[in-house]
Amino acid sequence: MLRGLMQERPLLISSLIEYAARNHGGTPIVSRLPDGSLHRYGYRELEQRAKRLANALLALGVKPGDRVATLAWNTHRHMELYYAVSGIGAVLHTVNPRLFPDQLEYICNHAEDRFLFFDLTFAPLVQKLRSRFTHLEGYIGLGDAAQVEKAGDMGGPVLSYEALLAAQSADYAWPIFDENTASSLCYTSGTTGNPKGVLYSHRSTVLHSFAVCAADGLGLSSRDSALVIVPLFHANAWGVPYAAAMCGAKLVLPGPMLDGASVCQLLTQEKVNFSMGVPTVWMNFFAHLDKHPGDRPPHLKRVVIGGSAVPPAMLDRFEKDLGISVLHLWGMTETSPLGTTSAPPFALAERSPDELRALKIKQGRVIYGVDMKIVDDENAELPHDGKAFGLLKVRGPWITRQYFKGEGGSILDEGDYFSTGDVATLDEHSYMQITDRAKDVIKSGGEWISSIELENAAVAFPGVHEAAVIGLPHPTWQERPLLIVVQKPGASVDKAALRAHLAQHVARWWLPDDITFVPELPHTATGKLSKLTLRKQFQGYVLPAAPSRDGAAS
Ligand code: ADP
Repeated sequence: MLRGLMQERPLLISSLIEYAARNHGGTPIVSRLPDGSLHRYGYRELEQRAKRLANALLALGVKPGDRVATLAWNTHRHMELYYAVSGIGAVLHTVNPRLFPDQLEYICNHAEDRFLFFDLTFAPLVQKLRSRFTHLEGYIGLGDAAQVEKAGDMGGPVLSYEALLAAQSADYAWPIFDENTASSLCYTSGTTGNPKGVLYSHRSTVLHSFAVCAADGLGLSSRDSALVIVPLFHANAWGVPYAAAMCGAKLVLPGPMLDGASVCQLLTQEKVNFSMGVPTVWMNFFAHLDKHPGDRPPHLKRVVIGGSAVPPAMLDRFEKDLGISVLHLWGMTETSPLGTTSAPPFALAERSPDELRALKIKQGRVIYGVDMKIVDDENAELPHDGKAFGLLKVRGPWITRQYFKGEGGSILDEGDYFSTGDVATLDEHSYMQITDRAKDVIKSGGEWISSIELENAAVAFPGVHEAAVIGLPHPTWQERPLLIVVQKPGASVDKAALRAHLAQHVARWWLPDDITFVPELPHTATGKLSKLTLRKQFQGYVLPAAPSRDGAAS
């Protein structure tokens, strides 16, 4: 083979911040700090401080490949850690503070984290877990010396982040190394078994950033002021911290304040036109707008929603009521996470509004870089007809090939495809639609009922705030669905009317055997409905007598 004669500059994360500092140096990064105040600087200063931090990390003794953990909100300091840790060749391990203490202990020990950088809001958590961390040598509080002092007893010495930076010079040249070097580490939430680490590389991260900036990816660009609601500890905030530097987008980082009022304030004040987050966050946003219609953000044009299915009722509120377009995203920690996005291509652009709405509710179209297929139980590929559904498999340069330390053994099939654990359809336009998590699908009489479809239909009913469907064991049908509903404040949902509404949207034999009301639903650390908790909670729940598969019971 004749070798090409192009330059082989490695794809390194440091090249992103170098580019942004040089070409978008004054573009703002606005952060809400845990004390509520706003901090503001540009990419030039971000790089300067990341270089000071790089020198500080080296002074602490951090070596290439070492894991450095963060327990932190979305702020400029967390961004500095993103660039400094990976920039020196170490590995940034973003830890989700919403995990249970036992899970936090497990993942920090499994990752063998040497240093932990944490927002001082987490001081009590650090104090509690400190003696259980086996590899941590140093703790750094994200604040100045006075703030660290004020945070009280944290079970041992804690350094001040600002003091560390102040002691270092910004004189540092990002080293050049192999682009396949590990750059960051995220653990999956571990809904089954222990959490598993996904170890990204510089190359996978930079290639994924191109996809985030691509028009058929998230279309992030220098024309955007982007409010990053998705946490920097959740699948690298969908790659936006890297992609924003690649394109020079203005970044607005909300810190810990994700309530509707604070989000609306930032959206308006920072002229945000683009934002991204999981459906739960947008539920709070709409609950706030219901009470304060005047807070409607005037500049917001596009939102990306992913992590869980976009309820159609939410799509309508954004698109019809507010004129804000919704981009549905599907992805996983294992896929960096971008897998599909839902913008309709030219050939479909003139479809009727109802048809376009149906497409946008699907998880999205396959983008370049992600090969996708659906297979049956024998691993035989299923047709792309929008009807056949099977296990969703993916492969590509930003998809994991192995979990950290080989957990779970070999995870690829013969064709190098990774099995997502999702059950999906693919249609002739390469739109993928998730019908369920493989473990959440309700198996009734040898056929499958999609819990997501039932939930979507339920939340479209007036008075329903949130809904979850789980399968309960059934003597005849193996499993039958139970619908669990949280009502909107002050609403009183009539079960029979809700059933009649569902009957218009799903097959009769899909109708839940019972509907029950709860004050709130359990969520995972990444904001998804925790079906595992629900299944435990409703273990032993008795469905009404003589339930039938044609939905006669109510
Ligand atoms: P966790 O660690 O909680 O699994 P991930 O973000 O990696 O966090 O979860 C990935 C899973 O989330 C996917 O496999 C899929 O089941 C679900 N998911 C992500 N995006 C969507 C979406 N748009 N619609 C439906 N499910 C989604």
